[in-house]
Amino acid sequence: MSLNTSPVSPDTLEVVPLGGLGEFGMNMMALSFGETTVVIDAGVMFPDPDQLGVDLIIPDLTWLEQRKGQVKALVLTHGHEDHIGGVPHVFPLIDGPVYGTAFTLALVEPKLTEHGIDFTDRLKPVRPREVITVGPFTIEFLRVTHSMPDCVALAIETPAGTIIHTGDFKIDQTPLDGEHFDLQRFAELGSRGVLALFADSTNVDRRGFTGSELEVVEGFEEIFTSTHGKLVVAAFSSSIYRMQILVNLAVQFERKVAFVGRSLAQNSEIAQRLGYLRVPAGVQIRDSDVQNYASQDVLCLSTGSQGEPQAALSRIAIDDHRHVKIGPDDVVVLSARAIPGNEKAIGRVLNHVSRRGAEVITDGMKHVHVSGHGSEEELKLVLSLVRPRYFVPIHGEYRQLSRHAHIAQRVMSGPDRKVQVLLAEDGDVIQFDRHGARIAEKVTAGRVLIDTTRVGEVGDEVLRDRRHLAGDGLVVAVVAITRQTGALVGTPEIISRGFVVGAGEEDTLLKDAGTAIAALIGTTSVEERTDQGLMTEKIRVELRRFFKKRSGRRPLVLPVLMEI
Ligand SMILES: [Zn+2]
Ligand SMILES: [Zn+2]
Repeated sequence: MSLNTSPVSPDTLEVVPLGGLGEFGMNMMALSFGETTVVIDAGVMFPDPDQLGVDLIIPDLTWLEQRKGQVKALVLTHGHEDHIGGVPHVFPLIDGPVYGTAFTLALVEPKLTEHGIDFTDRLKPVRPREVITVGPFTIEFLRVTHSMPDCVALAIETPAGTIIHTGDFKIDQTPLDGEHFDLQRFAELGSRGVLALFADSTNVDRRGFTGSELEVVEGFEEIFTSTHGKLVVAAFSSSIYRMQILVNLAVQFERKVAFVGRSLAQNSEIAQRLGYLRVPAGVQIRDSDVQNYASQDVLCLSTGSQGEPQAALSRIAIDDHRHVKIGPDDVVVLSARAIPGNEKAIGRVLNHVSRRGAEVITDGMKHVHVSGHGSEEELKLVLSLVRPRYFVPIHGEYRQLSRHAHIAQRVMSGPDRKVQVLLAEDGDVIQFDRHGARIAEKVTAGRVLIDTTRVGEVGDEVLRDRRHLAGDGLVVAVVAITRQTGALVGTPEIISRGFVVGAGEEDTLLKDAGTAIAALIGTTSVEERTDQGLMTEKIRVELRRFFKKRSGRRPLVLPVLMEI
């Protein structure tokens, strides 16, 4: 639906945020001038635990699909999932290269490979201060600091004026890799005149400055000094700086380092290959070698800082990891913030860790995590340097965007630095032309929920569920267990709707599904069985696997766990 039906004049720049404005995650924005569209970032968001059957969430791509053939480039600011996780889904809509720094592209590559996408010659590495041209756009990459290496902001010269997009940033004045935020270039561009600034709002509600990545060194030194057993540190698998700090400390305190968990092992391997992470020879060991070393000689860097049930830390916590065991004297550190919504899952994992007798250390107890996003004073500094005519807060929920807008107005209150704020949300079309700027209309935007077991298949939540239901039906498994031991009570009741296989086969299939659940529960430890969240997920995974194997179908599986 269009609120403004007057035709767009040919000299209008249109900027359309397609994700990340009004929510955290799935950042994506499109710039169009004439027949050329450029996309900035293509991120994902992770689902809430109650979004059953959903593995990832990406922005609705309808608007880009309508522009197929005109989308001439995808430009990436950095390698976090909320900026590159959606690249395999957006890639087929791009009629040109994908630009990003070497490290960003190295993290994109395995995603494309996993999706069977041929990207030969399409990934173009760029360096800070390098300039590329895409149709009417001239794009310069500007070094910024964040919680991972090789992050850039974008200065985009358009026929309507210069646009600056900050990507994610904080101003780390003692960057671990010596690569400083290019404040000079921001100031130069600002003094030449910037039409619009699009800036990260994630930490707008924190006072002062965020602080350097190096701030955690002291807290970890204390932990290394006082820990007599194994040290397990869970962090985001993209936190390369955190990994480097911990590797350095491990060398200093004579511990071997194991990278535990698929994404962490993969990212550390990529980072080492490209020289962004340095691990001295003889320090790294495989996770399968951990048990061959004395506890006090080992540091495990592991995945699972968000309580993800399949991640390494969750396995370790319930004593179900093949190679890494923990017990008394061992220390588990959560070196990450809890993403809102994950607190319960994280709490459950920490309960299990404590049951093993190990000590738990979180951000609240010691300074073991620093945010990668700039706080209020850093956001003000960037505004002061850039002095844009228009300001568009990005990356945040509405309240953060709105607060960032207020801050911008305070910073830009002098007579020579008037700013006009455009408080946009996903799908708003922001037009810039010689008459000024405005939010003109709304295009299709929203979320697409992805079930990665159905590669390539995309639909919104309702559609996806309907497809499951229409094509493969619905299976509800009602499983009763005892509260104390998690033992199965009676037989699991499996109910199906619209699940059609050969005549007479359905009964057998459902009966066997019940048997499979009983077997699963029988081989699961008491500790796991009494963890309802974990068990529900386990049953869901098992049933999906069962039905796919036995019938080739993927019904919508809804486990209902009743504690008696
Ligand atoms: Zn980021
Ligand atoms: Zn981000």
